[in-house]
Amino acid sequence: MVKDSVSVWEDCLRFIKSQVGEQSFRTWFEPIVPLSIKENVITIQVPSQFFYEYLEEHYVQLLRQVIHSELGPMGRLEYSVIVDSGSAQNQPYSVTLPNQAPKNKWEQDRQPSVRSPFEMPSVEEEWRHSNLNSNYDFENYIEGDCNRLARSAGIAVAEKPGITSFNPLMVYGGVGLGKTHLIQSIGNKIRRDNKNNFVLYVSSEKFTTQFTDAIKNNSIQSFTNFYLQVDTLIIDDVQFFAGKEKTQEMFFHIFNHLHQTGKQIVMSSDRPPRDLKGLQDRLLSRFKWGLTADLQMPDFETRIAIIGRKMQSDGIYIPEDVVEYLAYSVDTNVRELEGVLISLIAHATLNKTDINLELAKQTLKNIVHDIESEVGVDYIQKSVGEYFQISVEDLKDKTRKKEIVIARQVAMYLCKEYTNHSLKSIGYHFGGRDHSTVIHAVQSVSDMMDLDAKFCHSIEELKKKMRMKAI
Ligand code: ADP
Ligand code: MG
Repeated sequence: MVKDSVSVWEDCLRFIKSQVGEQSFRTWFEPIVPLSIKENVITIQVPSQFFYEYLEEHYVQLLRQVIHSELGPMGRLEYSVIVDSGSAQNQPYSVTLPNQAPKNKWEQDRQPSVRSPFEMPSVEEEWRHSNLNSNYDFENYIEGDCNRLARSAGIAVAEKPGITSFNPLMVYGGVGLGKTHLIQSIGNKIRRDNKNNFVLYVSSEKFTTQFTDAIKNNSIQSFTNFYLQVDTLIIDDVQFFAGKEKTQEMFFHIFNHLHQTGKQIVMSSDRPPRDLKGLQDRLLSRFKWGLTADLQMPDFETRIAIIGRKMQSDGIYIPEDVVEYLAYSVDTNVRELEGVLISLIAHATLNKTDINLELAKQTLKNIVHDIESEVGVDYIQKSVGEYFQISVEDLKDKTRKKEIVIARQVAMYLCKEYTNHSLKSIGYHFGGRDHSTVIHAVQSVSDMMDLDAKFCHSIEELKKKMRMKAI
């Protein structure tokens, strides 16, 4: 039976849908149009080059898998990319691009390897075994107060692995704050500057799985031998060693050996060593031998620089006011910031519109649920406005009328209580006021609640409303 492209693609979508989140499915897969199928090559149409690149970067494995299962092992995917010709009269035309071979080392590394994972690799193979993603480097790791110590210690270590007193170097910080990026940058720099230094990046989970597999397969010796030959060992997310006694013992052994022989160890964790529960004390005390440096959320200016860097590397332009708006609004972590940026570009590409403040606000609204608690600034402003019968515009305006000032202060107070926004960001959402105004508002509301029972009751009612929404 000859299959047609539509039904094959429908089957593919069914599988893809079960593998990716709803939002991603809608953004990246629904807009695809199947065009043709010839022998074992299916051609799909995507709206832009950016779209193609995004799919290739993020879903290449999934697409391969599903094409192979639909069209057999020789099955291939080709993209027809609509290229906007830039002039209104000309119809857009399309170019055909193949489903590429993996682009970076990281992807290659995921390809099945035929030999035992613990044999020492030849020099050519070392890159594959480094597990490094070559996109992470110091040049695109923006410096700010939030990461200055960790970043410069990282550079020092990368310049002289095993020789500085930063051994081990332990970097810690919350999710999405750039730990993996930083420690991989160290690895990449060492690899580039010194081909003989065997760098290995591994997550603590992968280390654990390899170790348990080695026990099962009776290959502990090769496991240990492999790790003892590493010159720079980079272990990500060591908090996952918690409670895994045997793995910790093995790691302790490897750590000591490497450290004694002057090899470099770099680690990351989501919290400082003193808060790492479930890790043996002797291991923790080792972690403290070198340098422990933390990563914080970048401040407003650094966030602007991060967005700027991203625009430059992706070759896109975003107007200044939108950049500022994003930098103000997303103050959770850098990954969220990048996520919002990608959605924004995707929406603009799909709708063929320019990126402007309106689109940025809409995009953010769609994702805002994940970014902050269910109760957002908009919701608070609307609720307070309704309660005091004042328009949201007035809340943000300069008016000094007493009842408006009080309502505005109440709204700021609730934003402080129920959202993750910083004082600076709250001020921004209230007509660009500065953070001291917000501090003053929060203080005034607390004082009035102490003095005025009726006022206190109103606030309690509003709070109830916020809690109901957050459920
Ligand atoms: P973590 O490992 O701490 O969860 P990642 O290293 O994965 O965080 O960082 C999340 C994303 O944010 C990555 O895409 C990373 O490139 C980016 N990022 C984080 N910090 C910075 C920074 N200072 N400059 C540029 N990009 C950054
Ligand atoms: Mg990470």
